[in-house]
Amino acid sequence: MRLYLDVDGTLLRRSGHARLRGDLAPADHLPEFLEWATSHFDCVWLTSRDRDGGAAAIRAAFRQAIGPGDEADRVDRLLARVAPSNWHRCKADAIDFAAPFLWLDDAPEEDSLDLLERHAATDRWVPVAVDRNPGDLRRVMEMLERRRAGWAAPVVQG
Ligand SMILES: [Mg+2]
Repeated sequence: MRLYLDVDGTLLRRSGHARLRGDLAPADHLPEFLEWATSHFDCVWLTSRDRDGGAAAIRAAFRQAIGPGDEADRVDRLLARVAPSNWHRCKADAIDFAAPFLWLDDAPEEDSLDLLERHAATDRWVPVAVDRNPGDLRRVMEMLERRRAGWAAPVVQG
């Protein structure tokens, strides 16, 4: 299962008064979430920070949000497990609709939502809102873990 990941408002939050300076802070449980996500899914970036097959701007944003130290190094190693993507018009252009996927994003663009709808995949978008709720990744992790358990153990008919 592929897991597409947004960055701003999904893994990094626009924090309290730092918001005025355009600064970001890591969402709560970020390293734990990345460890879990990259262990159970094929993770792919879907963020306007890097849309040309790279991840340098993404990794720089996390380093800046976390600040220097061991946690930044740990997170950077986890970020390296996420594959880059290419898209130009809208994020969902990078989604491979032939393969099963979920997409974590706080606010997909209209064009992306239209594309999901055309592929009958609207339910594949998992809203995340770490700006409003810094601990939201924990809720998402628990919810996806329950869904994952459902995929792993299909109901056997009598
Ligand atoms: Mg976002």
